[in-house]
Amino acid sequence: MSDEGEPSNTAVCEACGTAVPTYDVVSYGSIERGYRELCTSCFNAAVASALGLEQFENVRLEPVVMMDCAGDQHEFHFGIRLLGDVMALKAFELKAGVPGGYQFEILGKPDDDPLPLLGRLIERMRRSLSVRYLDRSEDGACIADQTVCGRIDWDESGDGRTPLLVIDGREVAWDEFGRMLMSFEGWQFQLAIRDRSEDV
Ligand SMILES: [Zn+2]
Repeated sequence: MSDEGEPSNTAVCEACGTAVPTYDVVSYGSIERGYRELCTSCFNAAVASALGLEQFENVRLEPVVMMDCAGDQHEFHFGIRLLGDVMALKAFELKAGVPGGYQFEILGKPDDDPLPLLGRLIERMRRSLSVRYLDRSEDGACIADQTVCGRIDWDESGDGRTPLLVIDGREVAWDEFGRMLMSFEGWQFQLAIRDRSEDV
């Protein structure tokens, strides 16, 4: 019996050969130099060896590709900023060449061991990619459950008067979100705003 054509739930790490769940695989590298599918521990080892070469703040971390719960791939780039006694590690997608879509940030101290910080960021990215707050319906997108998390962005078209939301890594216009809320007419809601470095 062949299982060709069936989606596989496991992948083989290209460094150590271990079979791991696909959600546990990080594709590490770049389009120019090629990606390698690595298990978490081989990914950590690859990053640690890059980190061994230079100070963390000067390291260029290669992009990673991670899969969301709907099977779509997201390529994340990393950036490190030192803000006084705080080090911010960011992961972001690029949309038309600029950061957009999913974005994550985690804060540490400049002399923190960077690897655990990166590990926590990857863990947070995984958790976020494992949830979809919006569903497809006949009339377009709708709220899947009763909670929505996302980011408030600047809406060029509205001159910043109303926000552009980014939910599930996708841009959602304020009007469109309002339409989705109308399926809950008469319900109550709670709005909590968090710093981008906080876990939600
Ligand atoms: Zn491995």
